[in-house]
Amino acid sequence: MTITSYNPADPDDLVVSVEEPGAEAVRSAVLRARAAQRGWLGAGAGARSAALGRIADAVDAHAGELAALIVREVGKPLAEARGEVARTAAIWRYYAQAPYAAGGEVHETAGGPGLLLTRRRPYGVAGLIAPWNFPLAIPSWKAAPALAVGNTVVLKPAPEATACALRLAELAVSAGLREDVFTVLPGGAEEGAALVEAADVVSFTGSTGVGRAVVRAATERGTPVQAELGGLNAALVLPDADIALAAEHIAAAVAGYAGQKCTATSRIIAVGAAYGPLKEALVKALAAVDDSVCGPVINAGARERLVGAVVSAVEAGATLLHGGAVPERPGWYVEPTLLTDVPAEHPLAREEFFGPIAVLHAAADLDEAIELANDTPHSLATSVHTRGLDAALAAADRLDAGMIRVNAPSSGVDFHLPFGGTKGASHGDREQGRAALDFYTVGRTVSVLPGGSL
Ligand code: NAD
Repeated sequence: MTITSYNPADPDDLVVSVEEPGAEAVRSAVLRARAAQRGWLGAGAGARSAALGRIADAVDAHAGELAALIVREVGKPLAEARGEVARTAAIWRYYAQAPYAAGGEVHETAGGPGLLLTRRRPYGVAGLIAPWNFPLAIPSWKAAPALAVGNTVVLKPAPEATACALRLAELAVSAGLREDVFTVLPGGAEEGAALVEAADVVSFTGSTGVGRAVVRAATERGTPVQAELGGLNAALVLPDADIALAAEHIAAAVAGYAGQKCTATSRIIAVGAAYGPLKEALVKALAAVDDSVCGPVINAGARERLVGAVVSAVEAGATLLHGGAVPERPGWYVEPTLLTDVPAEHPLAREEFFGPIAVLHAAADLDEAIELANDTPHSLATSVHTRGLDAALAAADRLDAGMIRVNAPSSGVDFHLPFGGTKGASHGDREQGRAALDFYTVGRTVSVLPGGSL
């Protein structure tokens, strides 16, 4: 079997084709990574810090080439691809400081002289499974903290992002990391499942169905696991908001990178008098979206699913306010689309579709808007658009989402803060920020008592 990855803007352009390595290759890679882990940890904080810093430098030094590869392999618009590369370098640089961070606390012993310590230690081999939509940033925000605290890493990228991940591995080797310290192994479900079976700690990002299976398999083995899954993110717009600005933010969150971000907005909830003006402003803002913002979706199957969902929603009574068609051009493009009157039980209102499509709902007041926003298991990010402090505070208190963003698009992530969803959108510890350092380590309590009388 072969893994292939095609350019979504030009489906005749084969970006990479590699032999699928198979489950046995995963098991051997994990064994080699386990053998390399003592040396990597034993090299000390200084060596790990310097190595991570050199990866950041290598990413910066190849920024143009990496952005072009992201555009070609996963169809991300150039400005966003450049942003992702800059963020990738910043992630490696941020975690390059982490090896020097305190790894525990000192306590008084209960009974007299000696030291009582807590200490965090790496697990061994971190098995990382990534999706395709942030082909450098997600592998990096998993690998960098795992490596910083002394684990070695085996990363299995999504097949659609194979070339980006292999290039990141080359840059890591050029920065002086041994291949067995940071291994990238291309593959699909077979390799992913084998990695979950073999690794000492597992971090997964991807769709909800696959993530649940990964969590079950890891938990069955007693392996610590975190999973960041799909979102069905809402934007709440209050009548006192700057409606034009809110519409601009929401259009970017709906159609930016063709809605293929786990934090993209797919439900817009207009409160009271906001509905009419917002509807108009959103149609205008979405009409202004061009290729430099939206781009194609990842493959033909994704496009069919999106267009099919729009057709079936309209058949079920929905009103199409904007878009909905497939443009006449090569590449897997879908028009940015806005619907309203979508029946509450229609899949477009209940499931993540991962495309530039959103549904506009009306709510009588803030309470109803919060209730609607919370009525989903996929609660990752919610945005609230208002000039009123009380509404913003109430929403921040009562919205059941991992990230609440006031007067900002739902689709923005700060890599130095914890990231994750609530309910079905997330499992286990948070990623990113310092939270990631905790996830990739396990606590030990150490008692050091005098060997004789002091
Ligand atoms: P996917 O679930 O299809 O694949 C994710 C990864 O899992 C890939 O590497 C894939 O090869 C691997 N995989 C597939 N079957 C497996 C199995 N049985 N065992 C182990 N691994 C397996 O997701 P995708 O299409 O690559 O990415 C899009 C999805 O990712 C969307 O649902 C999106 O919301 C989600 N996502 C979530 C976040 C977040 O942080 N919450 C971030 C980005 C993307």
